[in-house]
Amino acid sequence: MCGIIGFSGTADTKDVILGGLKRLEYRGYDSAGIAILNNDKINMVKTSGKVDQLIELAKKNDSLTGSCGIGHTRWATHGVPSDVNAHPHMSSDGKFAIVHNGIIENYIEIKNELTRKGVKFLSDTDTEVIVQLLDYYYDGDLKKTLVKVSSMIEGSYALGVLCTDFPNTIYVAKVSSPLLIGVGVGENYFASDITAFINKTKNVIDLDDGEFAEITANKVFIFDSKLKEIKKQERKVTWDVTAAEKSGYEHFMLKEIMEQPASLKATIEPRIKDNKISFEELNIDIKKYDRILITACGSAYYAGCVGRDIIEKVCNIPVYTEVASEFRYRNPIIDEKTLVIAISQSGETADTIAAIKEAKSKSSDVVAIVNVVGSAIAKLADYTIYTWAGPEIAVATTKGYTTQVAILYMFAIWAAHKLEKINDDTFASLTKDIKSLPERAQRTLDLNTRVKKLADKYYEKKSVFFIGRYLDYAVCLEGSLKLKEISYIHSEAYPAGELKHGTIALIEKGRLVVAVCCYEPLLDKIISNIQQVKARGAQVLALAVEGNKKIFTESDDVLLVPKTNELFMAVMEIIPLQLFAYYVAKKNGCDIDKPKNLAKSVTVE
Ligand code: GLU
Repeated sequence: MCGIIGFSGTADTKDVILGGLKRLEYRGYDSAGIAILNNDKINMVKTSGKVDQLIELAKKNDSLTGSCGIGHTRWATHGVPSDVNAHPHMSSDGKFAIVHNGIIENYIEIKNELTRKGVKFLSDTDTEVIVQLLDYYYDGDLKKTLVKVSSMIEGSYALGVLCTDFPNTIYVAKVSSPLLIGVGVGENYFASDITAFINKTKNVIDLDDGEFAEITANKVFIFDSKLKEIKKQERKVTWDVTAAEKSGYEHFMLKEIMEQPASLKATIEPRIKDNKISFEELNIDIKKYDRILITACGSAYYAGCVGRDIIEKVCNIPVYTEVASEFRYRNPIIDEKTLVIAISQSGETADTIAAIKEAKSKSSDVVAIVNVVGSAIAKLADYTIYTWAGPEIAVATTKGYTTQVAILYMFAIWAAHKLEKINDDTFASLTKDIKSLPERAQRTLDLNTRVKKLADKYYEKKSVFFIGRYLDYAVCLEGSLKLKEISYIHSEAYPAGELKHGTIALIEKGRLVVAVCCYEPLLDKIISNIQQVKARGAQVLALAVEGNKKIFTESDDVLLVPKTNELFMAVMEIIPLQLFAYYVAKKNGCDIDKPKNLAKSVTVE
């Protein structure tokens, strides 16, 4: 889940790498380090803590010069975050330094074996076995040694390697962790993510699993495990450096919340032709399937829950949801008549990748909904629908989630039309409703000031319940996750009718209950649930649709969101809940873009 970067060129290597790490910090932020190769010596600085701490240390260190270097920002998987466990890791003789993103699953066996052979280990990380193996087997041919070491390690890795025998050169390898090469003029880069070097070059080569590269300032030589050259196409990134910057906002999260009208528009509009939804990327016969299974993790899973309710409703086909990390252990009953929809913002989520592999092994077709172009999931799935949200840097997803929901809406309506469950007129009118979402989202953002005031009122709560029914409940799941992940306040989402079967025991005087009441056919039902919690002393913050007067007499505070087709309210409901989580976390002094213990793309299982 970490971020890695490497550079070879004539610019100031230290600056380039530290700048890149700062942009990659959303991927992991418990420790950071940099190593620069200067002729026949590798100089290294690393520390536990955030990239800013590394920057402070590196600034004072004059030895960090040279035309080639690597950097790392860590999300620890093996070994506590500490100076010693931070990357880069160096061989004892100082000949090699490496950065690694991923997990080496067989590291204990390798470590025991090397220890028997007299190798001394310094850190508790799995990563260190790679650098020690390189050092142990190195015979002067680094390409060959790298291939050999790769065949000995199991797990996932994106690796950057420096060796004192090859000044100005970086070696990289990749299996199941992302690694991109940035091709510049007289300088080249590698990184986990384009954001690391987008300010320098937009020309990118995606390295695939099992591929290696030798990178110098003027050449990128890609090779396979037989050391044979692989010719690969460059692609050009379309978005601009400003998309990866805060542009005046205090946090990426706020910027990304505010960007939702634009990201929804970018996701929805290209897929509307002649007032009807069309998915050019989806060459499937939807009639072939007798059910749909949606799998994902975290917020993407909750987007899937919204999708499930809508697809079932308009297509009249059974839709199941399954958390991706559980999927393969349940021996899911799926076959070629099951369409699997896998959702992941990053396209790297390890559990979702495993679920897709499981689905494919059972002959199911897989459609992926992904934000990052060329990511592992995009490559693995049979069909990929991209959300065009642009880069999402804040760890807590916002525009990633709403664009996933928008795609699921569109898929539902598109499939219902193909299945002849809706006629042309209904198809056109539902398409129009979806097309209006960006404008509705923009109007929902007008609640910003009011939500901030409510956050000021409620930020000291220690525990919060979110209740809703049907589609509103699906949104509660995401609203509650948003609050807990960035503010560390305990929160739970409950189907409103379920609360009284136990959890109502936790409702007491002053407990905050956020009641999402936008699905109007069930309004009376949720109002009874509000009355039940109010009778036990709860304070109720209700979310309802514009024009709802009744709700004011039932709740302590009300947020009214713009009206649209009741099927498509989730986008309008989640925006105030995102803002609420944001302002509560801010008021509590939390590190909003980099919440503790989390990282953006969860590449470990
Ligand atoms: N497994 C390695 C470690 O714990 C790398 C983790 C990462 O990808 O940040 O150090």
